[in-house]
Parts: sequence; C-alpha cells; structure tokens
Amino acid sequence: MLVTADWVLPIGRPPIRDGAVLIRNGTIAAVDTAKKLTVNYSGPRHEYPGCVLLPGLVNAHTHLAFTCLKGVIPSMPFAEWIRYIPIAFRSLSADDIVASIAHGAIKAIVSGTTVVADIAYGPESVAVAADSGLGGTFYWEVLGITPSELAETLYEREFPTDPIRVCSIRLRCGISPHAPYTSGPELIRAAHLIATAQHAGFAIHAAESDAETQLLTDGTGPLAQLAGRLAHGFTPPGSSTIAYLDRLEALNNAVIIHGAKVLPSDVPALARRAKGVVLCPRSNEYLENGKAPAWRFERAGVPLALGTDSLASNQDLDLFEEARALHAIEPRFDAHRLIEMITLGGARVLDMADEFGELAPGKQADLAIYRVPPTEDPYTALFDVGGRGSIEAVLSAGIWRVLSGAPIFGVSVIERASHLAAQKASLAVALDSPGL
Ligand SMILES: [Zn+2]
Repeated sequence: MLVTADWVLPIGRPPIRDGAVLIRNGTIAAVDTAKKLTVNYSGPRHEYPGCVLLPGLVNAHTHLAFTCLKGVIPSMPFAEWIRYIPIAFRSLSADDIVASIAHGAIKAIVSGTTVVADIAYGPESVAVAADSGLGGTFYWEVLGITPSELAETLYEREFPTDPIRVCSIRLRCGISPHAPYTSGPELIRAAHLIATAQHAGFAIHAAESDAETQLLTDGTGPLAQLAGRLAHGFTPPGSSTIAYLDRLEALNNAVIIHGAKVLPSDVPALARRAKGVVLCPRSNEYLENGKAPAWRFERAGVPLALGTDSLASNQDLDLFEEARALHAIEPRFDAHRLIEMITLGGARVLDMADEFGELAPGKQADLAIYRVPPTEDPYTALFDVGGRGSIEAVLSAGIWRVLSGAPIFGVSVIERASHLAAQKASLAVALDSPGL
C-alpha cells in the first residue's frame, strides 16, 4: 500500500513535500516523494491532502491500567496523592482493570500514539496492547516485597521467563521496582540484575518529589511511613536518588521516570549510564512536583523522552499536549526537537529505535497522520495543532486503527466498562476520605 500526504516527516531526515510511504507486509519498504514512489506502482493508494504524516508517536511513560482513575483523585501534593492510589486500585476487579487498559489503549491510539512504555501489573497490558495495535515495552512493577520474593512474584504475575518472549518485534517486557520509597535497596538491585540477565528493560520512578528527596536525605518527611512499610532494608543514604541508584549499580541502562528533582551534580552520571529520562511535565504539575531541569539534561546529552504518566495525574494521553506543556516551561525546546522527542527520541530511550520512531525502510509500518493548515513549515504547523483534535488516520503494524479521525473498531462497550470501573474507584476513595 502507498500512503501519501502533503508533508512526510521521516524524522531521521528532512521533511518531504508531497511525500509518500510504501508499505509491504507490515513494514516500511520505501519513503520518498509520491512522484518517485508511484512510478511502476499500481497497488492501493491512500491519499491525505492537507495532512502531515509522521511515525506513530512514542509515549514513554503510561499506566494504562489507571485510565479509569481520571479525575478520581484531585490535584494535590504527591505524597498525599499516592496514598489514594492503592485505595482506588484495590476497588477494581480484574475485568475492570482490563477495561481500563483497553480504554487507555484507545485514548493513546486516537491521539496518534502507537508505542507506549507502560507500567504493567500483569500480562493483561501486553495482551490488550497486542489486540489494540499498540507496541512498546511493558514493565512489570514490583514493590513492597523482599528480594527473595522477587522471582516468585514475577512468576505468579506471569512475567515471561523465556527470553524470546521477553523480546518480540513489537512488544517487549521489562521490570520496574516502583520507586526508592516502596522498593528497598536489595530489591532494586535484584530487579536490575534480573532485567539485565533477561535482556529486559529496567525503569524506575525516581527523583520525583521533594518528599522523596527529604526521605533519602535524612529518612524523615511524609514518605517515611510508606518507606518503613514497603521499602524493606531501606536506610537513608544521605544522597540524591540518582546517586543512590548509581551506588546500587542500578543506574546502568535504567529509564529514569520524572527526574524532576535531579541535582546538577547528578546529570553527568545520568548522561553516562542511564538510557534516558522520561519527562512528564503535566503530571509533575498535577502533583506539585515542580519542573525537571530539562534544558540542563539536554545540554549534557541525556537522552530525553516524553510521557503523559497516567490519567490519575493528567487530563489526557495526548503527547502533543505534553510537548506543548514542556515548550511552555522551556521554550528553548523548539517544535522540531519536541516532535523528535515524541518519536525517535522516545524509541531510543526505550531501546526500540530499530523498529519505531522513524520512517525508514525495514521499520514498523506505524504512521500518525494529522490535518494541518497549508504550511511551508510542517514541524511548526504540526506542533501547533497536532493531537486528538487534528488526527486524521493512524496505522500500526500496517493495519489502519483510525480513519477519518475515529477508531475503526467499536469502543462503546470498552468505554462503558471503564466508566463503571471509574465509579467504583471514586466511591472507594470517597468512603476513605469523605469530602475529597
Ligand atoms: Zn508513573
């Protein structure tokens, strides 16, 4: 099939006016001008005049299982907010969680995302993603256990132990000890060792809040009780989170989620050892965590990606909204760099750039197509209007998922199930804290 648009943004090379992408067997066969690719071509054509076409977007931090928690917990300081997450989540049945994941997958795809880095609580996320057309890395989250319970926990939660299953073309698995205040040092170290041995991804929420900084500095503050209950063996290291992870040898190839409280002295180690930092500016704002030193990361060469985080701390899963939020905080990131960050940059941080993030022969046929006003500057035009409101079509693995701005599959049953789950979660939170 041949897909044409007024502008094609391959990302790895300059924009192509009147461009086209030739697709065969779910992968990209060629990217060039429509004129060149139509010579001797007689197969199906999909034409998108008035549109910009680019690779499917990469959302480098999601919790799709929390999609039904949108609006359940209002904006508040992180250390208070996190208390409500288990209350809300425990109210959900296994079916509710599957509905919530499926609803999140739809929300991601209809805004142009085809790749996620998702915090998973079992195999459901991978299965739902595979069904919906999402690719990405799914990190099994562990917390509150001892290192000796890790292997059994992963086994019980059906973490794929066969290395071939851990790594397929579109779907990869990883391990994520949740955070330094819910996973003790030996658990973090053990999770990192297993991930490394399995060639699986490793991600951790780190340097997110002032409460976390306080806990690591002197063991006090609003997260101290939680750490005492869940982070077995934790003693305050008297250092930053990044220095702590480095000392645990858990920074190598780690995906650092948030990094809002990273110190200038931590940045060189991040640049040298981590896979990268996933910036989540809107979640940081929702939870009053301030702003990550994103430009300092950029200047030091820290690989950067963007993530929406979950709908428990954000309004939507639209990466263009996230990119515009980062631009508002740090205008030195221009449209070109931000669009690179939500495509190839994200794929690199996830170690999936061999398949995603760029329009190039041999890569996955994942396309996002947005309607934009007539322009000579497609990056700026797309940055200004890109998102759920301007999506025209989405293709993943060579299959259309969105056409004429709407999903090609029925979504009303999933939305209804997810809304019912949301009502249960709201009730559970209200019963715990009347008036919240
Ligand atoms: Zn998160």
